[in-house]
Amino acid sequence: MNQPTLHTPLAVVGSGMAGMAAAIFARNRGISTVQVGRVSEIGFSSGCLDLFSILPGRQPVAFANPFDGIDALVKKMPCHPYSRVTHAQIRRAFVQFTDFMASAGICFHGPEKYSRHAWNNQYIITPAGTLKPTCWVPAAMKAGTEAIAGNQRICIIDIKGLKGFGAMQMARAMQSKGVHVTGATIAFPGRETAGDLMCERLAWDLETPNVLEQFIQLVKPHLQQVDVLGLPAILGIYRFEKLRRIMEQTLGKPVFEIPTLSPSVTGMRMKEAYMGKIADLDLLHFPITVSDIFQDKNEFVFSVTQGMETRKIRAKNLILATGRFMGKGLGVRDEQIKEMLFDLPVTQPENRSGWLSNDFFDPAGHPVNRAGIETDDCFRPLDKAGAVFHPRLYAAGSILAYQDWKREKSGAGISLVSAFKAVSHIAQNIPAGRSE
Ligand SMILES: Cc1cc2nc3c(=O)[nH]c(=O)nc-3n(C[C@H](O)[C@H](O)[C@H](O)COP(=O)(O)OP(=O)(O)OC[C@H]3O[C@@H](n4cnc5c(N)ncnc54)[C@H](O)[C@@H]3O)c2cc1C
Repeated sequence: MNQPTLHTPLAVVGSGMAGMAAAIFARNRGISTVQVGRVSEIGFSSGCLDLFSILPGRQPVAFANPFDGIDALVKKMPCHPYSRVTHAQIRRAFVQFTDFMASAGICFHGPEKYSRHAWNNQYIITPAGTLKPTCWVPAAMKAGTEAIAGNQRICIIDIKGLKGFGAMQMARAMQSKGVHVTGATIAFPGRETAGDLMCERLAWDLETPNVLEQFIQLVKPHLQQVDVLGLPAILGIYRFEKLRRIMEQTLGKPVFEIPTLSPSVTGMRMKEAYMGKIADLDLLHFPITVSDIFQDKNEFVFSVTQGMETRKIRAKNLILATGRFMGKGLGVRDEQIKEMLFDLPVTQPENRSGWLSNDFFDPAGHPVNRAGIETDDCFRPLDKAGAVFHPRLYAAGSILAYQDWKREKSGAGISLVSAFKAVSHIAQNIPAGRSE
């Protein structure tokens, strides 16, 4: 059944970090938006918002202040996406995004919003027993970050059967770095003989009050001579703040979560909170993959099909936030990296043998991870001749060239700031759009 054509000033293709950010910034400017895309890399993310902390190279340099790092990065790599934004735009992008997420139920513990100097990176504990620098920490991890900074005594508890999360091993790794950590294992109530356990399943179980109560009783004996309790991130998917508060009140100690290996509950929470919130807003979201977009009368035209209904979308502006290989924004054909929707030119090593360094752990990173879409200063993709491909087509997020978010610890930052700048440019050309 065909529905009437939907005309929109903006379509966002992708609902990962960059797509969500673009839709949020567009909403803040009064631009009505249609968004398409399925679950993304975000379901694997730790839930922290990284801005920048490591300048990769033969001798990687760590920065306590992300803005100092970004200044050094841009000097070394003038084409990096961060070279196209000001510090003020970066701060505004993070503030708008975190304000929106707070209104959706995910609060971040971040820097003092408008001061450059207060934006120092913080540390979270990873399941490998390392300390990861990041800029904005979800409230669920805040007590851990404070415990590390304040040299408090931490007890990490793991669950028998939960793969990829070993409390003793993590404790040993961190003790060697001078962190006061001990580890203990408990059996999860009702799943004592279940074999391999998944975080998502346990998170669902803990939403049941009597399972939570039994869980708390099992944890209690391990907390003597301990200041703070660390758990794998399993404290619910929807009522996680409430569950953590109940634990803290019953145990009389701060409780924090540690992100687990993928898929991660912390990433899922962000996605679920966003989807729940946009249901109340002027934002149409279709959880589908678009296979073809064509241009007609200066508009981008594509179809979305849900069940028996097909709807044509005609958009004046389009933000491509389709991610890299995992998101399926980039793919490989004939030994070349391709952009999958518009066949945009992809900046990449000359041939496949140049994709990877010989050393798997090369501190400078692998060239393939910097492959992507080259843009102008407003994040509009360039064609083969170096001119703007289309005046109203934009690209945002991990699909962009020259960045290596894994090495740099800049995942959320790249997504947020490129989406912010693209939407700012679009707003200038939409009469109804509100200005900054
Ligand atoms: C294991 C892991 C841990 C991470 N931890 C962190 C962290 O702690 N902090 C941090 O800041 N970052 C982290 N990141 C990085 C962060 O998740 C990414 O930088 C970010 O998700 C990139 O967002 P994106 O929107 O560009 O791409 P993606 O998240 O890949 O999203 C792409 C979107 O495009 C959609 N799409 C693609 N093609 C189409 C199509 N044809 N039609 C419709 N939709 C389409 C997909 O469905 C998806 O919704 C982590 C990533 C991973 C994998």
